Amino acid sequence: MKSIQKPINNQTILVTGGAGFIGSHLVDRLVKEEYKVIIIDNLSTGTRKNLNPQTKFYKTDIKNKKALTEIFKKEKPRHIFHLAAQIDLRKSVNDPVEDAKINILGSLNLVQCFLRSPNFNSRISKFIFSSTGGAIYGDTEIIPTSENFLACPISPYGIAKLSFEHYLDYYQKIFGLDFVSLRYANVYGPRQNSKGESGVVAIFCDRILSKNKPIIYGNGRQTRDYVFVDDVVEANILSLQKKIKGVFNIGTGKETSVIQLFQKINKIFGGKIQKKHGPSKKGEQKRSCLDCRKAKKILGWQNKVELDEGLKKTAEWFRKKT
Ligand code: NAD
Repeated sequence: MKSIQKPINNQTILVTGGAGFIGSHLVDRLVKEEYKVIIIDNLSTGTRKNLNPQTKFYKTDIKNKKALTEIFKKEKPRHIFHLAAQIDLRKSVNDPVEDAKINILGSLNLVQCFLRSPNFNSRISKFIFSSTGGAIYGDTEIIPTSENFLACPISPYGIAKLSFEHYLDYYQKIFGLDFVSLRYANVYGPRQNSKGESGVVAIFCDRILSKNKPIIYGNGRQTRDYVFVDDVVEANILSLQKKIKGVFNIGTGKETSVIQLFQKINKIFGGKIQKKHGPSKKGEQKRSCLDCRKAKKILGWQNKVELDEGLKKTAEWFRKKT
């Protein structure tokens, strides 16, 4: 990986959700690049095992504004990568209020604290938000879908992510907050949690390794765009390094059906496990695939890891873990 701009005056970077799947990979990369990193995470889905020992960790909920204010006073972060979130789409359907409390109100707490923080500098500071490309556009006729497409999310999770992007836009216009919102496709890779509802690659790896049949909901022809976690980390790093702002899709532009995904993963593990079909999930999107030409042109980003290679790396990690 090429080296990035080194921190000036040892500026502190705050990563929320740094004990989680994507956040912990991002933190590892920032530490490697010699940034001073602090992490805020409530460990609801993240784990201590993921924490990089060269960072300072605050076990705090982003809903707790008082605690956040204290941390900001003490640590004075210059930049923020905001990944902490309720990420389970099903949970957002069952409890949209809790989803909004974390994904909208918690996120607003963070911005409010940032703007009041002594090291916030509208000419330098950046707020880099982990948004969703998979759940923000809804079912569209235009595949792959670009950022220009009118986002029409069909889940409270997608609505909350889109709402917060609107807030970021407002804070930029009125308070000069420089932000980048990265709309990820379906991210996969080592450390992904296989116990939740999302993370189909992790779930399939886990079930195949434990000799349980993976369940495919509906006919399995629903498609997704799968992007490897290292590529997502690179997009975050470039967002910090480059003088750019706005919303970017981060995916591969390639569609893979759930059945194809199962076949690829099963083959890596020897191909002995049968799949099982379950009822289709109400409101599930049929197709999702992102047009990432804007990220290529402006951010200078393109995915480097192809699906077969990324799946092998992920499968290897799950094999070692078992
Ligand atoms: P993850 O669950 O592994 O990471 C989320 C982290 O946030 C966890 O460590 C969790 O403990 C923490 N967290 C949750 N609620 C919190 C709260 N109230 N206060 C403090 N910490 C809290 O999930 P991930 O896949 O690494 O997702 C990271 C980000 O990327 C999220 O914002 C998610 O919405 C976004 N995203 C992920 C994907 C994907 O496919 N994984 C796709 C699109 C967007």
